[in-house]
Amino acid sequence: MSFLDSQFQHLVPYVPGEQTRTKVIKLNTNENPYDPPQRVIEAAKVAATTLSRYSDPTCHQVIEPLAQHFQVAPENVFLGNGSDEVLFFLFQGFMEKGVQFPDITYGFYEVYSDLFHLNTQVIPLKEDLSIDLAEYTGDATVIIANPNAPTGLAIAPEVICAFAEQHPHRLIIVDEAYSDFSEASLVPYLDKHPNILVVGTFSKSRHLAGARLGYAVGSKELIEDLNKLKFSHNPYSVNAMTLACGEASLQAQDYVDECTNKIIATREWTQQELQKLGFETTKSQTNFVFCQHPRVAGETIFKQLKAQNILVRWFSNPRIANYVRISIGTQAEMETLLQAIKEIEGVDL
Ligand SMILES: *Cc1c(COP(=O)(O)O)cnc(C)c1O
Repeated sequence: MSFLDSQFQHLVPYVPGEQTRTKVIKLNTNENPYDPPQRVIEAAKVAATTLSRYSDPTCHQVIEPLAQHFQVAPENVFLGNGSDEVLFFLFQGFMEKGVQFPDITYGFYEVYSDLFHLNTQVIPLKEDLSIDLAEYTGDATVIIANPNAPTGLAIAPEVICAFAEQHPHRLIIVDEAYSDFSEASLVPYLDKHPNILVVGTFSKSRHLAGARLGYAVGSKELIEDLNKLKFSHNPYSVNAMTLACGEASLQAQDYVDECTNKIIATREWTQQELQKLGFETTKSQTNFVFCQHPRVAGETIFKQLKAQNILVRWFSNPRIANYVRISIGTQAEMETLLQAIKEIEGVDL
């Protein structure tokens, strides 16, 4: 017997990529393949000694340096328990006029719009998997991931700014989970465009997926309103160890940049090698590649790699069912991956 309210009975929750402790090459959830910086590990140890106290609800120790990193004021920055929590508040409280997002994008948008019974318009990507903002008419809130997942493709900031200018009364949310691997972020444009809100995460480029730390950058009013929701829910949603890790991560910018550059170089190498094997790849601006093979189905590649203890991500959505999404690991891991792909029947003809 279920005691869950009827309004939630129909929910189809988000399905995270498989997490495993067994020895596999894990290229399925876009985590950073490199360990967190040493100073993050040290900071976590020190913070562990303070755990008898509540965490600081102002999150000041991360908000200050993060604001400095982005060259904005602390009043322009909001912190949450992963960007998933930031997105939760956005879908909960900023979409009264409905929401529009692409048919192929981060799976949580659909889950949250369902959870909050939103008036949702799903707008198909173009044939080449790009987003055409001209199709986002009306007055609903727009949310796009830029670069988008799992396609890896990005839109130039100028295009998003022009759209925001044409629609001054609509909120435009730009999820920049992968922007550190791309050429551009919307953050420098925010003071001219108060209806754009950028959402970001420490999970990918900052090595902290397990710590759960996400943020939003935008106008003082937007940040105040986000805090209104957060402080009506759980003011301590970002825990003390995570705050310490976030602070230390911002002090280790050189290491973070060095790893990001390695990941970008490995991504370019991997795409070239895949193309030599007949794969078609999108022009990824992220820490994953999105590729398909003319003779071998995506599901087959996914299963054959899994049999060789390499996890990648495959989505059953018919529009992209022939693709696999492969997170960028270390160079050595990607060499192993390519070796394994060559052994799949039909690839290396
Ligand atoms: C990974 C990801 C997130 C979630 O990030 P967390 O901070 O780990 O919750 C949000 N949006 C997109 C597009 C992502 O790929």
